[in-house]
Amino acid sequence: MADLIIDGATVITVDPQRRVIADGAVVVENQRIIAVGKSNEIKQKYSADTRIHAETKILMPGLIDCHVHLAQALIRGTADDVDLIPWLRDYVWVLQGNFTPDDGKASAELCIAEMLKSGTTSFLESMIHKRYGMDGIAQVVERTGIRGCLSKLFMDWTGYAGEDAIMYEGMIEDGEECISETLAMHKKWQGAADGRVYIWWGARTPGAVSPELYRRVADLARKRHMRITMHLGEVKEDVEYTTSQFNQLPAEFARDVGMMGENVVLVHGVWISPKEYPIFTDTGTHMCHCPASNSKLASGIAKIPEMLQAGINVCLGCDGGPSNNAYDMFREMYLAAIIHKARTLDPLIMPAETVLEMATINGAKALGLEREIGSIEAGKKADLILVDTRQLNLAPTYNPVSNIIYTANGFNVYTTIVNGQILVHEGKLLTLDEDQVIENAHKRGEKLLDRTGVNIQSRWQRN
Ligand SMILES: [Zn+2]
Repeated sequence: MADLIIDGATVITVDPQRRVIADGAVVVENQRIIAVGKSNEIKQKYSADTRIHAETKILMPGLIDCHVHLAQALIRGTADDVDLIPWLRDYVWVLQGNFTPDDGKASAELCIAEMLKSGTTSFLESMIHKRYGMDGIAQVVERTGIRGCLSKLFMDWTGYAGEDAIMYEGMIEDGEECISETLAMHKKWQGAADGRVYIWWGARTPGAVSPELYRRVADLARKRHMRITMHLGEVKEDVEYTTSQFNQLPAEFARDVGMMGENVVLVHGVWISPKEYPIFTDTGTHMCHCPASNSKLASGIAKIPEMLQAGINVCLGCDGGPSNNAYDMFREMYLAAIIHKARTLDPLIMPAETVLEMATINGAKALGLEREIGSIEAGKKADLILVDTRQLNLAPTYNPVSNIIYTANGFNVYTTIVNGQILVHEGKLLTLDEDQVIENAHKRGEKLLDRTGVNIQSRWQRN
């Protein structure tokens, strides 16, 4: 007897043949998918404790968000319509630099609740400061049932690109402590919660880390089979920094300090030039595209179709509460599918199918988990979502992939399953009290603003 059968669905498998199965079914046993096929064949062979009839649903792999700042959910909407460096210096760092571990936990709950309800089953958090409380955040991952890669940040300088000593006091960490804390977290949490927690290294952007510290971490990561993520080439200033200080383009600098490799996910890449693409392909380094964040912060548009054409593995990420401002991968897929067409004047440059690969199987590769997640195949972990097509914005559904990319949004997600566990069903979150999460976020957010004195600018007066 299997644990779960979902039948009657339109199954977008993203398997090697990229099959889309009409009236398809999936069988789950012991956290894993054990069979995929036509409903009538599956029904004859298998029975299960739980059955979901999904006649009006699309069944697809859970979405993989490869760039998330959990702690930024609580500061959503605090720094809109501002340039990146003042955005960091005057708002984001000041607010995050006053976080307590309870704020870190509340923010992680808010962010993870939003991700699960909008169909994200795995995420890569890029830079956790010790003040957010690493243990508390890992416990939220454990309790909510999501799959989470948690990167502890490391830094030993206080700059950003060419700006020296601009880091807010509450955000500064010591290089040696960063290393010991990450190793301690790795020992304690790697593989915890049925293998759903992964501990990574979260490099601060060039300007905040010495080449020596980058090299030490790169070496430690390789020896311990750990993975690294870092923002690279997000804004023009990043190129000016590495060229003026090291006479290197950002990817050349990253390679030189060990921040390139099959175990590395670099984020943004807006200002990465075609000259640098071979460094990515030669080393197997992954690139995470964040179209909403790059557009909202006016950083530019990364040359993603060109990178894909060069053979770089590109995945997708939402980034954070003040830069996106949502953690809904459907919005991200939509933007990724349309902005490159406008930029290149070529409607064929970024097909819907390519974008869905970025949000699923390419994300799995970037996390080093392509044998475990990212597609619906027998043997893989059961990280699945159901999208309800009986919704105004999804009718009619002639081409399910097109509807998923161009018109669906996170509110169309009906069911979210991670490791075979149903975490969202009929649009309801099962592992967290949603009302309480929202209430707590409002309360803690207001207190944080009071404490820091950060003034949220609005061009319109609120009386
Ligand atoms: Zn980021």
